Amino acid sequence: MTADEKTSLARFLDTAYGVARGGYLDDRDEYAFQDDPEPCGETAGGAEADSFERLEADVRSCTGCRLKETRKNAVPGEGVRRPMVMVIGEGPGADEDATGRPFVGKAGQLLDRMLASIDLSREKNCYIANVIKCRPPGNRDPFPDETIACSSFLERQVRLLKPAFILCAGRVAAQTLLDTTNSIGKIRGKVISLDIAGTTVPLVATYHPSALLRNEEWKRPAWEDLKLLRSALVEAGLDPAGPGTG
Ligand code: SF4
Repeated sequence: MTADEKTSLARFLDTAYGVARGGYLDDRDEYAFQDDPEPCGETAGGAEADSFERLEADVRSCTGCRLKETRKNAVPGEGVRRPMVMVIGEGPGADEDATGRPFVGKAGQLLDRMLASIDLSREKNCYIANVIKCRPPGNRDPFPDETIACSSFLERQVRLLKPAFILCAGRVAAQTLLDTTNSIGKIRGKVISLDIAGTTVPLVATYHPSALLRNEEWKRPAWEDLKLLRSALVEAGLDPAGPGTG
């Protein structure tokens, strides 16, 4: 996208974001978009020329939005290269920012236990990433212009990984991927077809593990979502308990 296109889209989304929350955001920095640099959008030579190494290097050196100024480390993601399930969360927190790895704090440890309960893991059959690759200060929600600036990295990841399913962790990731303002309570509990990166991937959304750490009541529906995902995998002929998909 060009800088002008990004600015128009971000203004529109910011207005919608403010209205949806009952007011307008008036402490927003000026937009500072640039035309997509080649590595941040399509790669030279198209998707065939892309690689994990190039993508990770592009993320770690990205200056595509204001979050570059406050991050310690950008966090591309980690896991197997042909995942049965791609887990997509919101963005890095303090532990992830410090280490450059996704979901490594308390919430990440809970996510690992949740995945293990249905025979999934980042070592064997999952890839774990976020919609935004750098930590928003104070763990605030990413602003729409930041999400837009970062979106091409997620699309490149999906093109490279070709995940069979997506598990969307939390409200922000679900609303971003599905382009909706519905609550996570309305989005979860079903398999949804997501059009992304020129393909369609079945998606199950659930609560973010950090939300589960705060609210015990959501653990039961989250467990139902995990069982739904496992059933959908088996129905699709995939066996999470089988050998890894590395
Ligand atoms: Fe680049 Fe995304 Fe980090 Fe912004 S959040 S600097 S677009 S990698």
